[in-house]
Amino acid sequence: MLRTHNCGELRINDTGKEVVLCGWLQKSRDLGGMTFIDLRDRYGLTQLAFNMEADAGLCKQARSLGREYVLQVRGKVAERSNKNPKMPTGDIEIIVLEINILNKAQTPPFTIEEETDGGDELRMKYRYLDIRRDSVRRNLELRHKMALETRKYLHGQDFIEVETPVLIKSTPEGARDFVVPSRVHPGEFYALPQSPQTFKQLLMVGGMDRYFQIVKCFRDEDLRADRQPEFTQIDCEMSFVTRDDVLKTFEGLARHLFREVKGIEGIVFDRMSYHDAMRYYGTDKPDTRFGMQFVEINDLAANKGFRVFDNAELIAGICAKGCASYSRKQLNALTDWVQRPQIGAKGLVYVKCNEDGSFKSSVDKFFDQQQLGTWAEAFGAKPGDLLLILAGETHTTRRALGELRIEMGKRLNLRDPEKFACLWVTDFPLLEWDEETGRYYAMHHPFTSPVKEDVSMLETDPGKVRANAYDMVINGVEIGGGSIRIFDRPLQEKMFSVLGFTPEEARNQFGFLMNAFQYGAPPHGGVAFGFDRWCALFGGSETIRDYIAFPKNNAGRDVMIDSPSPIDSNQLKELHLRITGVKADKAGKQEQER
Ligand code: ASP
Repeated sequence: MLRTHNCGELRINDTGKEVVLCGWLQKSRDLGGMTFIDLRDRYGLTQLAFNMEADAGLCKQARSLGREYVLQVRGKVAERSNKNPKMPTGDIEIIVLEINILNKAQTPPFTIEEETDGGDELRMKYRYLDIRRDSVRRNLELRHKMALETRKYLHGQDFIEVETPVLIKSTPEGARDFVVPSRVHPGEFYALPQSPQTFKQLLMVGGMDRYFQIVKCFRDEDLRADRQPEFTQIDCEMSFVTRDDVLKTFEGLARHLFREVKGIEGIVFDRMSYHDAMRYYGTDKPDTRFGMQFVEINDLAANKGFRVFDNAELIAGICAKGCASYSRKQLNALTDWVQRPQIGAKGLVYVKCNEDGSFKSSVDKFFDQQQLGTWAEAFGAKPGDLLLILAGETHTTRRALGELRIEMGKRLNLRDPEKFACLWVTDFPLLEWDEETGRYYAMHHPFTSPVKEDVSMLETDPGKVRANAYDMVINGVEIGGGSIRIFDRPLQEKMFSVLGFTPEEARNQFGFLMNAFQYGAPPHGGVAFGFDRWCALFGGSETIRDYIAFPKNNAGRDVMIDSPSPIDSNQLKELHLRITGVKADKAGKQEQER
């Protein structure tokens, strides 16, 4: 080893030892007779000290070193006169006897410290420098720990990790596939997996019983903030289980991770049907750290002459505790907020429950004190509270009210980052109708089994059929989801037909799976978790990018290696591809420049 110790481990009782450290020069300070350098590695920082009087030559050498130089230093551990209680090594410093420059460094494009002056793009371009920063390094350490503890727990539950292929077959269901052209099979393409779904089911047919994999998945979806075209799942599948067995097993995983990674005990899981989640929270991933459930007041407020309510399918609201003191300005701002296109409400009705027991509302023209009193009662409102009410088409009203609830939760500091509310949302609809294409889509995926009691409705009323599917939601974030699967051919065929596949299309795309079901497929079910997202949740961040070593930017580009990028014409030819249009010009131009 080039070193005897790392930069994070020396303490006061090491005083007097001669040590060799290696690391990067984070910062140096000249104080006349003394020069100090902070030497950094993955483990921490250690202060190096140089005394002009003791060794002027060495001190001058130290002063000539630039930021991020890679150094090896030999020296003696000494007690610091000026201790720094904020640093684990803050009691000591190294009186350096010898410096060896292992490598020079150009001045870095941004300061490699917690308070950095580098913007997002710059730090992405030089991600290897960003990784030297404490917070990024800590995030990657957290990710490692999460993966390690996941493996430990699942191994302890008899799961085995099996790798599934990355070059697979394109299917039109779900998101768009990334495809890879085949050189040896002209005109044919592989696809990168959106998830190992069919393979894990085939592993169950293969008798593997319990499978997991921490695995890269790829989805060519439209760009959105904090969406990565490649991301990681904890993918799992089990045989001979009911829904409750699956939920219990993975509550166990969550509890294990909370304990081992966050040091939090006593995590409990609620369960909520999709129906209730939508009805009381307006979303299938409710943040249940706080209440503020929706109250529907159609009975109390419709047909009283206020047109907006009379024409509404749903009139519902939330009660914001202690907000009756909101000023007109604040209420106007809130109204503007719900009317933004992203939220999409037409307007906002408020009722202030005054401290003196009277009410002041934006609809006083239509409703008297007694009527407003019945509303307040329905909401369980106390004097000092504020009712916020939206009305309109059921689904859009619920969605908008759900957003408003989250916003009010934020304003009232009810979304405590130290608190974790975990639940399973169950009984999703199996199918979703799409107006545009005039067909049903599987809400989860086509391999999800309907709830047993509802199977007969597949023919008569497919929209009503519930799925034996579940999502794990923590603090309003969908951490994972899964289902009990279809495992017999006739039901799978029926499902494809409901989804509008001809028998031939179904056979072409999923024949391998339906064939496998004819050779003794066990009942099975499973789940997959968004690993990056779970890391972000535990790290207290909303950005999964922070937990990925080399992420893509919001435009789906890797700005460090500059990808995607054109390929040269020979490569294209070999792949039997011809590019037409704008991209071809770009590729051609680059080719000429070379
Ligand atoms: N493969 C599914 C997904 O990626 C999860 C599952 O059903 O296990 O969403």
